Amino acid sequence: MGKKRLVSGIQPTGRMHLGNYLGAIQNWVSLQDDYESFFMIVDLHALTSVYEDPSQLRKSKRELAIDLLASGVDPEKACLFYQSEVVEHAELHLYLSMVTPLSWLERVPTYKGKIAELKEKDLHTYGFLGYPVLQAADILLYQGDVVPVGKDQLPHLELARQIVRRFNHLYKTDFPEADESLTHFPLLPGLDGRKMSKSYKNTIPLSSTPEEITALVLKMTTDPQRVRRNDPGNPEVCSVFSYHKLFNTEYSLKKIDAQCRAGSIGCVDCKQQCAALIVDKLATFREKRAYFEANPDIVDAVLDRGAKRASEVAKDTMKCVKKVIGL
Ligand code: ADP
Repeated sequence: MGKKRLVSGIQPTGRMHLGNYLGAIQNWVSLQDDYESFFMIVDLHALTSVYEDPSQLRKSKRELAIDLLASGVDPEKACLFYQSEVVEHAELHLYLSMVTPLSWLERVPTYKGKIAELKEKDLHTYGFLGYPVLQAADILLYQGDVVPVGKDQLPHLELARQIVRRFNHLYKTDFPEADESLTHFPLLPGLDGRKMSKSYKNTIPLSSTPEEITALVLKMTTDPQRVRRNDPGNPEVCSVFSYHKLFNTEYSLKKIDAQCRAGSIGCVDCKQQCAALIVDKLATFREKRAYFEANPDIVDAVLDRGAKRASEVAKDTMKCVKKVIGL
């Protein structure tokens, strides 16, 4: 028996940030040892929301590939590629769209939510509604056994399973229904206290310089009740403190907690310490990133090799899909 297959994707819609790294990519890196992993940069998914102005897409894809390699995605262990380089994603999406009832798509919780959230974009398109069908195709193409997801994405995975179940039922096949591997990392707050997200423009991009990281952390919101430096603060409502919880030692954490409550440490000092911890955490990342930036041929070769390997697997699945449908 070979290793089980794991499939996951990330959208190139902006610069990869600390939340993506802690909440998703670190998990990819630890899972790549145990699974045959297919990690895709899902540029077709990105197109569903940036189709009106895709001018940044090519650059974002490339930057994301570099970020992933610098984060520790290892091309010797995992297959890393651009989704659009494997045409079978679009092909299988079409076949799955035939068997997917509209009502299943319309009731996905994130569908209406995203449309409301991204008001500046017109997402009333066929492509955007079909986003979960494309996700189902991404997984089925590699006959993935496992998909690492955050809790917020569980409804998408459930829908993907439903689509595969319907396909299996209609065409008497037994393609696997992928299991989730739940990511337990809590959502990282962004600079404004909401979830860190590219859509909210409140992120700490991983490729920031140490100076940029410090400048960003200095802008973070803290306890709103704490107006003057000597006012006692409440660390429990402060995003900076939640970062300390992640990156600081237990000893220093207790110290900062006590100092904040006593009003004996100012927010600026506390933020400077926090920024230093993040800068330190990303030291290896920065080093590796600089290496890949200086060696574009290596990055190209990794992505080419990834697309070739992914295509082999995808072609096998498509042969079977077309046969059972009777095309
Ligand atoms: P964004 O909201 O910035 O567009 P994505 O939706 O592309 O991020 O998320 C890519 C991956 O990163 C997902 O697996 C998601 O769960 C994870 N992720 C995104 N934001 C955070 C966050 N603030 N904290 C933890 N994980 C996150």
